[in-house]
Amino acid sequence: MNKNHFKFWPPRLSKSLTIPKTTIYDNLVISTKKYPDKIAIHYYGRSITYTELLEEVEILAGYLKKKLGVEKQEKVLLFMQNSPQYLISFFAILRLRAVVVPINPMSTTQDLAFYVKDCDIKYAIIGEELYDNIVPLIKETSLNNIIVTSYSEYSGEYNENNDFKPNLANNNQKLSNVIFWKDALSETYQIDEYDGLEDDVAMIPYTSGTTGMPKGCIHPNRTIQANTVGASLWMNMTADAIPLLTLPLFHVTGLIHSALAPIQSGSTIVMMTRWDRDYAAKEMERHGCTHWINISTMLIDFLSNPNMNSYSLSSLQVIGGGGAPLPEAVGEQLYERTGLRYYEGYGLTETISHTHFNPPNRPKLQCLGIPSFDVDARVIDLATGSEVGPHELGELVVNGPQVFSGYYNREDENKVSHIEIDGKQFFRTGDIVKMDEEGYFFIVDRLKRMINASGFKVWPTEVEAILYKHPAVEQACVVSAPDKKRGETVKAFIILKTDFIGKIKEDEIIEWSKSQMAAYKYPRIIEFVESFPTTSSGKILWRELQEKS
Ligand code: AMP
Repeated sequence: MNKNHFKFWPPRLSKSLTIPKTTIYDNLVISTKKYPDKIAIHYYGRSITYTELLEEVEILAGYLKKKLGVEKQEKVLLFMQNSPQYLISFFAILRLRAVVVPINPMSTTQDLAFYVKDCDIKYAIIGEELYDNIVPLIKETSLNNIIVTSYSEYSGEYNENNDFKPNLANNNQKLSNVIFWKDALSETYQIDEYDGLEDDVAMIPYTSGTTGMPKGCIHPNRTIQANTVGASLWMNMTADAIPLLTLPLFHVTGLIHSALAPIQSGSTIVMMTRWDRDYAAKEMERHGCTHWINISTMLIDFLSNPNMNSYSLSSLQVIGGGGAPLPEAVGEQLYERTGLRYYEGYGLTETISHTHFNPPNRPKLQCLGIPSFDVDARVIDLATGSEVGPHELGELVVNGPQVFSGYYNREDENKVSHIEIDGKQFFRTGDIVKMDEEGYFFIVDRLKRMINASGFKVWPTEVEAILYKHPAVEQACVVSAPDKKRGETVKAFIILKTDFIGKIKEDEIIEWSKSQMAAYKYPRIIEFVESFPTTSSGKILWRELQEKS
């Protein structure tokens, strides 16, 4: 650490933590040994003990290995919503020392085709309502086998009325490649003892990072373990904790804070598949939930429930989240209702969730917090790359045990994703922040072209690429626009082709976009313009357009 850095760090709040050299799969085995009969998951009126969970993991791992031939370090796509099967699949893949590639369940066939190709995927485990999205890829791509599960297989009360039931009978020629969960788990196969290592790649979650094009982040057990152990300590996640899981497991915040940390601690997860504020409050009351990690839109919806006062929330001890800022007024409303302060955190897919968190004894509102265990976080000048002082704006760069090993197969991007300071490599977050004199960080802006729609990240270049397929679109520029509910929303400025001027309405393009991309991505606002502001070299000045939004 250079002298300047130290000067800006009174007191040095980031503490050191000894990370066990065990793997994420080991955590499940250790907790099962300690608490064999304890409930690991409550799921819509049914319960699964740690022993049952591990047994299912072993059986599925046996099937994946012996019947499908999944190899060590082979990548397996996980495409389903929150369910016990998600965690069973996750740990079964790790049991084989294979790699989990978690995918947003809102992904379209086109999105999936990209991930399958990028990671050369042969196997996928999916929720049945997503079957139609993935089935066109079987045999047309490297994808060869899919295991399909229904969430009702492990639930008592889960209402699947809204879920699409695939008509597998119409897919005769593909049927041999489609395996039902029940069949896959009907027999037990002997497999070799587990010999996983902390450096095995365990997960490749996708993000578009700072450049806008999707890419996989390589995470070995080591980085995931650092944040799993760190999250448990930060949130005081002990074996007595009963966390409510409502964030999607495909994203790192939900996975680490509401699933992996609880399992490492031997606590009991109360799991939900779809967000429902009344059901969440009922589950909190029924199971006496102690922890709830969420995202601002969920919390706003939860607190504005007219039935709120009929539920007891007295068991709650820790409530927090990250991924998007929590409006100050909502933090205050939460405090009035529960007497609890919101623990906001900050992080990225590249850092497998948090690099910063608010200390529970002294959180600040609308603040990313202080650097997490063993994290060296600096703020650097955008032009010179040198460190700046308190209250000065700059890019946040981080060095810590949770920083990924690089983007999968993206050598060029890996060359520019880090910067060397004091002989250490720091990951460039693309976020513009400032630090106060106590070492708390605040996000101010972004260098990267990204839209944060209530935690769902939308990359304008991806949306623009799809808009260009519309016959009326001559040029498109997608920006972030303020939104009361989602914080930010997606807006597209469009220059129409001459033939279409006056002949097409904004709504028609919105409707068309809806049919082409995932629900969180399509533009909610379209504005037709005659020209874009550009640099002398013709580059669109998207910030100027954004400022007008
Ligand atoms: P993701 O990789 O999807 O987790 O997105 C990471 C990005 O989310 C960061 O680079 C930030 O721009 C944003 N982000 C994460 N935490 C917060 C937070 N507490 N407040 C505001 N933005 C956040």
